[in-house]
Amino acid sequence: MEALIDLHTHSRHSDGTLAPAQLVALAAQRGVALLALTDHDTTAGLDEARAAAQAAGMNFVDGVEITAGWRGQEIHIVGLAIRPDAAGLQAHLARLLALRRARIAAIGAKLARHPRLAQAGRDVAAEVLARDGVPTRAHVARALVAAGMAATTQNAFDRWLGRGTAGHVPQEWPGIDAAVAAIRTAGGHAVLAHPQRYKLSSGALGQLCGEFREHGGAALETSLPGLSPNDQDRLARLARAHQLAGSSGSDFHEPGLAWRPLGRFAKLPPGIEPLHARLM
Ligand code: AMP
Ligand code: MN
Ligand code: MN
Ligand code: MN
Repeated sequence: MEALIDLHTHSRHSDGTLAPAQLVALAAQRGVALLALTDHDTTAGLDEARAAAQAAGMNFVDGVEITAGWRGQEIHIVGLAIRPDAAGLQAHLARLLALRRARIAAIGAKLARHPRLAQAGRDVAAEVLARDGVPTRAHVARALVAAGMAATTQNAFDRWLGRGTAGHVPQEWPGIDAAVAAIRTAGGHAVLAHPQRYKLSSGALGQLCGEFREHGGAALETSLPGLSPNDQDRLARLARAHQLAGSSGSDFHEPGLAWRPLGRFAKLPPGIEPLHARLM
C-alpha cells in the first residue's frame, strides 16, 4: 500500500473537534505515515500530538496555519517543521489571538443588538471566549446551532455571521509578509494553503504567488481533496511558474465530513518538488 501523508489538519485547539491524540489515532487507523497538525494560529496541540505520534510509530511534523491578509482578502499560510517555542512566532500568534478575541466580542455585541438574539447573542460570544484554545467564527456558528438559532453551522454563517448579516464583523489581518517571516524565524517552511479557495482572478492569484515567493514562501498546496482536474492543472502550473514546491493535506476538521477525509496520497503533479521530501 502506498503511504498516505497529510500536512494540513486541525484539532480542538482551534476549530477541529478531536483532541490531538484522537486525531493521531484516527490518522494511524487510516494508514497515514506522515502527519502535521496545523491548527489556526496556535501551536498548543503540538506536544500532545507529537507524543501520541511517537507512541504510534508515526512521523510527525510540527505545524500551524496562520491567518493573514492580502489586498483585503483573508489568506491562510501553513507553517511546517516549525520550532513551536520560537519567540518571534509566538509573538505573532499572540497578536492574532488578541485580534480574534476582539472580533468575537464585537460579533457578540452586534448579535445582541438583534431583537431575535439579544441575550443569546451575548451568551454565545461569552461561551466561545471562555473556551480553551483559539476562538473562531466556526465556534460561534456551532454555539448558535446549540442555542437553536440556526439548523446547521452553514446556516448560522448564512443567517448570522456572513457578509451582509447582523453579526458580520470584517477583519483586517497582518500581511502575508509577516506570516511568512514568523514561520521562517521559527525555522519552518511556509506553504500557501488552498489557493483555489480565494476569490481572486487568475492574474491576482499569480501575483499573490509571486509575492509569497519573494517573501520566502516555499510551497503551494497542490494536492487537496475535492480539486477538479482543471484546478489541479492550474495549481501545478502556478507552482512551476513560481518555483514553489508542492504540499498536500486534507484540511481535516472533524470525522463525518466525508469530503475532507484524513490522509492524502503523496502523488503530486509532474515537475513539482514534493515538500514532504524535505520533512522526512
Ligand atoms: P474565523 O477564522 O474566525 O473567520 O473562522 C473561520 C472558520 O469558520 C473556518 O476555518 C471554517 O471552519 C468556518 N467557516 C468560515 N466560513 C464559513 C462558512 N461560510 N460556512 C461554514 N463554515 C465557515
Ligand atoms: Mn477551520
Ligand atoms: Mn484554511
Ligand atoms: Mn485549515
